Amino acid sequence: MDPRTIGILGGGQLGRMLLEAANNRNINVAILDKKASPAKQINGTNPGVDGSFADAQAIRKLASQCDVLTVEIEHVDTHVLEELENESLSQGKNLEIQPSWQAIRTIQDKYLQKMLLLEGGIDVAQSMAVPTASEKELRVVESNLKYPFMLKARTGAYDGRGNYAVKSEKDVQPALDALKNRPLYAEVWVNFTMELAVMVIKTKDEADTSSWASSTISYPTVETVHEDSICKLVYAPARGISNETNQRAQQLARKAIASFKGKGIFGVEMFLLEDNSILVNEIAPRPHNSGHYTIESCRLSQYDTHLSAILDRPIPAKATELLTSAIMLNILGGEDPKSFLRLANAADTAGAKVHLYGKGDATKGRKMGHLTVLGNTMEEAEQDIEPLIRLADEIRG
Ligand code: ATP
Ligand code: MG
Ligand code: MG
Repeated sequence: MDPRTIGILGGGQLGRMLLEAANNRNINVAILDKKASPAKQINGTNPGVDGSFADAQAIRKLASQCDVLTVEIEHVDTHVLEELENESLSQGKNLEIQPSWQAIRTIQDKYLQKMLLLEGGIDVAQSMAVPTASEKELRVVESNLKYPFMLKARTGAYDGRGNYAVKSEKDVQPALDALKNRPLYAEVWVNFTMELAVMVIKTKDEADTSSWASSTISYPTVETVHEDSICKLVYAPARGISNETNQRAQQLARKAIASFKGKGIFGVEMFLLEDNSILVNEIAPRPHNSGHYTIESCRLSQYDTHLSAILDRPIPAKATELLTSAIMLNILGGEDPKSFLRLANAADTAGAKVHLYGKGDATKGRKMGHLTVLGNTMEEAEQDIEPLIRLADEIRG
């Protein structure tokens, strides 16, 4: 279908599902990650590179085998990506890096990401940098943002590991201990009524918020439910929001993504407030947990359209329509390293679509897989998933 080889930095579950989509279209993929990582387990055709996506030499080795480099995680070495792009340009090679290293670099620092969104006129929660992690500095934060506020690691954060809710004076020291040695910023506490998310496909290279209508395509607005800062459930479409809110969230997400350089799929997490206004929480420059439902309930999944975007293949507007209601439940590890399998088994028996990531034994709270329940109506999907949610709660303890 396309003779080019795609290199993926990272071989976790997102890389694995991206590879599944590539395999369906006979697209050759090389993966950079540890041996037997989730994606490598199912890549029989290309050994890829064993190593770390944060290691410059390993990234260079992967690049030497590929025509297009992409990522399934934002915590990669963007300096080597910048060098590779410059070398490709000066030496007349055709290595493409999508999305752009600039987008990845800005997004991987959540504070810089916020500043860029603000420049583009996108509303985000009020925040401030925390130059040194000290009690004195957090007193300055408190005088500006007031308790409670969210202390966040600027880099390396995922699944809430990097967030600490500072509700009162007594949380200050534990927060500093929990996030020590990490660059920090603080965010005002957002009393959202619902968390929303939209997957956006960027189809043009340039960063230009004003051209969002021609440079982006969106999937519908979904509702995400987090527990302890980690995504638990995704409802597609978001329940109980008006069509106007659904469209407005998609438009905001598209504008937000238009401000970044490069092509491919992006995830946009948002907060819906009581007055119906919407803030962007954060952006992911890659497939996203809130977009897994697209595998079963849209014509083309977030993985299919990511491949199309980075290979410059057309993406019809219909591709992202929601064809059926869906609820996605993450399969998270409990205390017992194997208890998550009880949920996978129950879901499978109940006719839910089960995705296990091949991570072996679980640790508590680790994403081991997910399941998707489809319904002719949302009520039907809600009814069918109810016992599975109860079991997930029991396993997590
Ligand atoms: P991800 O796995 O999505 O990358 P992350 O570790 O980057 O997560 P965030 O998205 O910043 O973390 O936060 C995780 C969750 O914590 C949010 O989805 C939301 O439920 C809650 N949260 C984050 N920031 C705030 C805030 N300012 N006010 C209230 N709740 C918040
Ligand atoms: Mg994040
Ligand atoms: Mg998040």
